[in-house]
Amino acid sequence: MGGSQWPDLNATIATLLRDLAAIQSVRPKSFGYKRAASAVFWLERPIDELRAADGSFPRIPGLGPSSMRVVAEVVETGWSASAERAIDASGKRAEVDRRRAIGGASLSRAGTLRVLALRDRRLPALARYRGDLQMHSEWSDGTTSILAMARGCEARGYEWCAMTDHAGGLAIARGLSDRDLVRQTAAIARVNEKVAPFRVLRGIEANIAADGSLDLTPEQIQSFDIVVAAPHSKLRSPEDQTARLLRAIRTRGVHVIGHPRGRMIGSRPGIIADWDAVFAAAAQRNVAIELDGDPARQDLDYQLAARARDAGCLFAADSDAHAPDQLLYAETALAHARLARIPPERLVNTWPLAKLLRWAAGCRQ
Ligand SMILES: [Zn+2]
Repeated sequence: MGGSQWPDLNATIATLLRDLAAIQSVRPKSFGYKRAASAVFWLERPIDELRAADGSFPRIPGLGPSSMRVVAEVVETGWSASAERAIDASGKRAEVDRRRAIGGASLSRAGTLRVLALRDRRLPALARYRGDLQMHSEWSDGTTSILAMARGCEARGYEWCAMTDHAGGLAIARGLSDRDLVRQTAAIARVNEKVAPFRVLRGIEANIAADGSLDLTPEQIQSFDIVVAAPHSKLRSPEDQTARLLRAIRTRGVHVIGHPRGRMIGSRPGIIADWDAVFAAAAQRNVAIELDGDPARQDLDYQLAARARDAGCLFAADSDAHAPDQLLYAETALAHARLARIPPERLVNTWPLAKLLRWAAGCRQ
């Protein structure tokens, strides 16, 4: 896949702890390792920096003695002999190796913060991030109101956001019916009266079907400020799905290809495609490629995103938040953009609203 992996100790340990969770035959033990993995993933500093002068670790909430042994081993030796022994003894070695072979880089919270702190004016900065192009409210599978999401964005210093609840084709995510779409338009207008000059754009996350078509009519697609089109099915298929993505990119009115692979870290490999052909088509249509910052997705990651950068693509580094406290996932997306060395001017999230709307209008032609 090209490009070396950015060293991220906490991500390495969290992955190992998730492996251990997967091999447990008793539910509470599995749950304990999962909780430990999450605790390490969300630490704000690399875990080796938390050690005292005598080498001992402080008590870290969520981490029990067996998880701490794994931590200590990885910090000392770079790997965990006890975890590998447990995997061998479980009889699930093949399953774990399969999960480990699922490609792609990921960043922990500490890894994200380290990348965001790098001083380099050629890279997009968090302080210049003006708006997020993928988020969900209680109108589909999010948990809060549109107003709460808008206020959350305002609190992060943004100038605009796109509310992109799921279109009706995705029943599992409580996609919006045609009637809901009309009602939500009015709801967004009411929110905009309250939050001005902040601006909520009327967006949608359309589902890319297996044949590359979207779950919206051409007239509906044209009616949104922002259309994110994303795959949600056939994400474990060994077939090449280049044609599926090309059709979506060439659909008039599509602005962003959301979580383009549909991978889940350590569990779902996502779409197989000729990515250079996909990126070339996106660059030609000025369709942005998304860096989805949901920690479980991180899709695209910086390794594949670097190829999209070389193809000349635009990018959207989005949170895919389903609640206001998840808006910070945009920081993980931005960290991937920085590691992919995406020039700030090619990251649509840094654009003033007027420029964003001009670009959006261009994609409808
Ligand atoms: Zn999605």
